[in-house]
Amino acid sequence: MATEALFRSDAYLQECMSIVTRVDETGIALDRTVFYPHGGGQAGDAGWLVLPDGARLAIADTRKSKHPEATPDDAVHLPAPGQEALLQTLVAGMPVAAQIDWTRRYRHMRFHTASHLMCAVLPYPVDGCSITTEYARLDFVTNEPIARETVEAGLAALVAGAHPVTIDSISDEELEARPELVRTMSVKPPSGLGRVRLVHVEDVDLQPCGGTHVANTREVGEMRVAKIEKKTARTRRIVLELA
Ligand SMILES: [Zn+2]
Repeated sequence: MATEALFRSDAYLQECMSIVTRVDETGIALDRTVFYPHGGGQAGDAGWLVLPDGARLAIADTRKSKHPEATPDDAVHLPAPGQEALLQTLVAGMPVAAQIDWTRRYRHMRFHTASHLMCAVLPYPVDGCSITTEYARLDFVTNEPIARETVEAGLAALVAGAHPVTIDSISDEELEARPELVRTMSVKPPSGLGRVRLVHVEDVDLQPCGGTHVANTREVGEMRVAKIEKKTARTRRIVLELA
């Protein structure tokens, strides 16, 4: 009962027709979805399931399924508070239109892409990352001082550079045959899984990632550094917000 994750091939897809495969206390499972489940630092999607009679069931969040038979791509859609009556009418086999809250998701895509650009602006390993509607937060492993102006100028230059962002994948064997790729990557890819999904910001960054991104860095738009702080002796935390 795997969920087909449509956002992997097209992050701009806002709606799809789906079939309900399971409804239980953990949430609503669909055969295919445009909803991104919380993971890889990126917040889950919210939105609506439009039922056959036109009623709109509000979804507050999307999570990876913890069902015993779940595969890694299986997602559950969590109903918002107050949806109990509509939830009662939902049964396995029912067709629904799954619609994401696009304003929210597009912010996640902009912040997420900005976090890849930050890996090029600051040449330090990343120890943690959180992408929400309001901010992107990154923890860099360094004890070097980081200047706000330098980060903002570096980021703005990459946004203005209008670099295409493309999704690629590579097999473990191909990666082994091209060791130069690992050197250009800001994150070492997981090996032993067969294929790795790669996000390529042309001329800027290449890294394994399962999240949703904008198609061109110019869509990231204006961002400002809201905070730079010493999180631990060895990490500096940077928070980006929309300018
Ligand atoms: Zn990413």
